[in-house]
Amino acid sequence: MKPPLLQVSGLAKAFDANQVLHDLQFAIAPGEIVGLLGPNGSGKSTLLNIVSGFERPDAGDIRLDGRSIAALPTDRIVALGMVRTFQLPAMPQKMSVLEVAMAAATGAHGVLATLLRSPAARRAERQGHDKAVELLAALLLAPVSHLPAAAISGGQKKLLGIVCALMAGPRLLMLDEPTAGVHPDLRRDIVQALQGLHARGMTLVIVEHDMHFIRELCTRCIVLDQGRIVASCRPDELASNERVVQAYLGASAKE
Ligand code: ADP
Ligand code: MG
Repeated sequence: MKPPLLQVSGLAKAFDANQVLHDLQFAIAPGEIVGLLGPNGSGKSTLLNIVSGFERPDAGDIRLDGRSIAALPTDRIVALGMVRTFQLPAMPQKMSVLEVAMAAATGAHGVLATLLRSPAARRAERQGHDKAVELLAALLLAPVSHLPAAAISGGQKKLLGIVCALMAGPRLLMLDEPTAGVHPDLRRDIVQALQGLHARGMTLVIVEHDMHFIRELCTRCIVLDQGRIVASCRPDELASNERVVQAYLGASAKE
């Protein structure tokens, strides 16, 4: 087996008295597409927040290619090749879809470079533009690329969130509920777009509730329940896994 791309050990997190994650251990190998499942409130988004540097763990370590990233700021983690999307993507509403995608790659450096207008800056800007156009087309946003970001649908904003993440050229992409609120017709396209990224070598971790989507895409599932990993198995093994069934039954009993 190849050495893990991502290794999480002893990870714990509490918000005040609420212990949200308990001593999590898992590894993601290069080339996996891992579905991160679990009832609402089981800690999936918190786990993504911690792994991507948006929250700090109380205990434990996170290694990317064997290097500890648990204390690194998000921009360093992105530069090392790991990017995540958010459940509810936030973006400047007045910029066009294309501008939002381009800004994701250049950020503050890009603004400064554009002001300076050096040949290198112009070259970087052109490369960013071409990459944004290519990714917008791959994620079906070419027809709306000149509209203001405020004018596109919620599902299209999700896709734009994925484009922005991809502008950084990650090796490991983590997606928080990429199909929630997305029109069913678009889901098929998202699956295909993600399969295309995987075919080009990307490793994926996907928080998702749509079982059809998971079965089609994921090579393995990790199931969280109340902040603990209760299963790590193939998608076709989920339905017969007692602890997975219990996790979801327990959650629905509480509702
Ligand atoms: P999931 O994504 O699996 O639905 P979350 O990770 O969003 O679950 O939430 C897990 C638990 O952590 C919930 O009880 C939630 O209220 C709590 N939580 C998440 N983020 C915060 C925060 N920033 N402050 C306080 N509590 C939080
Ligand atoms: Mg969540």
